[in-house]
Amino acid sequence: MADAVAHAIDESGQLLVEAGTGTGKSLAYLVPSALSAKERGEPVVLSTNTLALQDQLLRKDVPDLIAALGRADGEETVGVVALKGRSNYLCLRRWFPWERQPSLDADEARLKAKILAWLPRTATGDRAELQLTGGEEAHWRQVSEDEGACDTGTCVFNQRGQCFLFRARRAAAGAHLIVVNHALLLTDAASSNRILPDYDTLVIDEAHHLEDQATAQFTVTLTERDLTEYADAVAGGDGSTMSGVSAGAVAFLLGAAADSGGQRRARLGRERLDAALAAAETLRTAGRDLFAALEFVHLDVGEGPSGSERARRVTSATRASPAWQAVDAAWDRLLGGLREAETALRWFATAVDEVDELAVADLAEAGERQELLLSDLGNTIRVGTELATKLANALDAPEPGRVFWLERQGVLQRLAFRSAPLDVSELLQERLFKRTRSTILTSATLAVDGRCDYLASRLGIPDASSLIVPSPFDYRASVLLYLTDDTPEPTHPQYRDALERTLIDAIAATRGRALVLFTSHALLADMARVITEPLQDAGIAVLAQRRDGSPQQLIERLRREPHVAVLGTASFWEGVDVTGEALSLLAITRLPFSVPTDPVFAARSESFENAFSDYAVPQAVLRFKQGFGRLIRSGQDRGVCAVLDRRILTKRYGATFLQSLPECSVAVGSMMDLPSAAKDWLEPHEHGRSPSRQAARSR
Ligand code: SF4
Repeated sequence: MADAVAHAIDESGQLLVEAGTGTGKSLAYLVPSALSAKERGEPVVLSTNTLALQDQLLRKDVPDLIAALGRADGEETVGVVALKGRSNYLCLRRWFPWERQPSLDADEARLKAKILAWLPRTATGDRAELQLTGGEEAHWRQVSEDEGACDTGTCVFNQRGQCFLFRARRAAAGAHLIVVNHALLLTDAASSNRILPDYDTLVIDEAHHLEDQATAQFTVTLTERDLTEYADAVAGGDGSTMSGVSAGAVAFLLGAAADSGGQRRARLGRERLDAALAAAETLRTAGRDLFAALEFVHLDVGEGPSGSERARRVTSATRASPAWQAVDAAWDRLLGGLREAETALRWFATAVDEVDELAVADLAEAGERQELLLSDLGNTIRVGTELATKLANALDAPEPGRVFWLERQGVLQRLAFRSAPLDVSELLQERLFKRTRSTILTSATLAVDGRCDYLASRLGIPDASSLIVPSPFDYRASVLLYLTDDTPEPTHPQYRDALERTLIDAIAATRGRALVLFTSHALLADMARVITEPLQDAGIAVLAQRRDGSPQQLIERLRREPHVAVLGTASFWEGVDVTGEALSLLAITRLPFSVPTDPVFAARSESFENAFSDYAVPQAVLRFKQGFGRLIRSGQDRGVCAVLDRRILTKRYGATFLQSLPECSVAVGSMMDLPSAAKDWLEPHEHGRSPSRQAARSR
């Protein structure tokens, strides 16, 4: 793999590498990347899917790289810098005005106290140093630069070299390797204020996530809160106390009214403040009406082919329905409010800019306030313009090539109006692949049925070269793949009871040490409820996602405690890394197909002639491979993977799932025989005996 990566870096183009578990994938791309960066004097960007993987690369793999290159390369070291997304860094321009506002709750007050104590000491401004609680995290967004609203040209903190985000950027510019996550890579590629320095070689690890991450990053979300926050930023107040940039501008103009020109500006400013307050009030009421109207649309769309319970697709038919008329009416008023707010803000920006510093007594203070005010006004105008564009694209003239939907979000289940690109391949081409000379995309799961074509076409790189590096592990000796042939199909009324019995018996037979993967939270919760007690009686602790702790806590207990079974959904299909006997049974309750009513999946399916075989199956196969990959994490591991969805045997597509796995020992049998087969497979190994009977045949 290292040779192929080195070759791909030398030549231009894209290379897809599937590297099975245990191949040493990270080192195989780190070494050629570092050598190339040092030789060419240009940084290589390495992107992982999550912050956790980014940390793992830095803590585990980069020290290995430095050790490896140290031997080959004498004293010379490799410069490695991690860059995080914008929202991880404290934004000073947002912090100072926020710090002066009264705190609305204890979490906000605590966060302010923490930042005040930390600010003089921190060199990075990275929130990871603060160890925030959940409540404090919720307020962090007020002081981080998250919306791309920062204008480096007008920001005084950037001009003074104090901005943490751009300090991190400068550090990255001098590094050989820059480690980022996909979210930052993609937002940066779409931003006019780029954080990443120029680079022409890119390595994307966990590349099977790139399409989903690109979809998430290019998704536009609108909520009522966006409108109220913007309205509050423009102007607010209860008659006695005024807030917002307009009020700040009026206070500044009053303070600078030293001559007749200044007094006239201050008087006009007070009139403009009334206009800004009226515009802000229109934004609040029209925003409320808009989302109330969308609630009706959400109810009206109902369940069915166009939407599931939480997310409902908005199509041209939805927009033609009677319920949409109230949406149009609210949008017209909203548009008026947005225009009036912008007019008022632009007037204030000009008036504040015209103030002559000499008109104010304290020159230094006035200059600073004027700079900050102009920066705030500029940013509020920018936020308003972006909001107006997003709203117009969603409500007035729906952007072609996007899918729109309404979705409930958060604990309060508030409605959000979202849109995402139907196809991210062109965006990836334009913003990522065309800008780099070489891109290496790698993962343990890229291929379906031995080919990388599916992912290459989804990412818009059909001509990319590909390489499959199999795992060095002996799966035939270490894995029994047990396929039950009598489990009712998942939609059958008896499936649930059959699953309950099978899980209890199989987990009891392996004395816990099990991970059970689900595709739905509802089924997981139901199974957790019914299997916990019987297994507890057998001395086995059943730990369920969302019931017994965070995913990390559950996995830690599986790793450390002797008789544990963990029940998990989506995030447990990947990233769980438990070696040895602690994970001996992996049960896959259902083949991981996407929910057919998911708006993005449904809309994308429409672009295929045969959506099921060309889109749904390959997508599910990649997830299935990820799930299967949890079982064997080292050359000494041994275990049973039980697939409790008989469609893998009865449907034609089942063969694609099976052929995509490494060659292992396969047994087809009844649910009833699974416990004894699992015991036979595991026990001879555990007791150092040879197998008493041939439980399986090789595939
Ligand atoms: S440049 Fe200014 S606005 Fe942008 S992140 Fe830095 S401090 Fe914040």
